[in-house]
Amino acid sequence: MDDYDSLLDRARSQIPEDAFKKSGERFQVPDVQLIVQGNRSIWQNFQEIIMVLNRPGKEIMKFVSGQLATAGNFEGSTAVFQGRFTAEGVGDVLKRYIEAYVTCPVCGRPDTTIGKEKNAYYLHCSACGARTAIRPV
Ligand SMILES: [Zn+2]
Repeated sequence: MDDYDSLLDRARSQIPEDAFKKSGERFQVPDVQLIVQGNRSIWQNFQEIIMVLNRPGKEIMKFVSGQLATAGNFEGSTAVFQGRFTAEGVGDVLKRYIEAYVTCPVCGRPDTTIGKEKNAYYLHCSACGARTAIRPV
């Protein structure tokens, strides 16, 4: 996915540094912007949201398409899913991702990274230091 990576770099360089600074408080995740074209649903601000979440787009794509039980792929800075979905529906799935893979279950803050040790995945929280086992996406 070389194209995707270079796209990500380019998109990142266009976002002000402040967007990456975590205040330690709740972060602001933009609402999902989604349009339906024919039998496809296009998540228009996918790129923007993965920047805020600081997670790989591929992982979020895998989770969301799995939850929607459909196929998804990247087109430019958008994510496209087969089938007709609503912004609310995709937003609910995204919320589940954030609860499972971004928010620290101990302190509720989003200052986390995912680490892997042997075959186990952990959510490391830089705010409170908690390490929580998670299931891989
Ligand atoms: Zn924490």
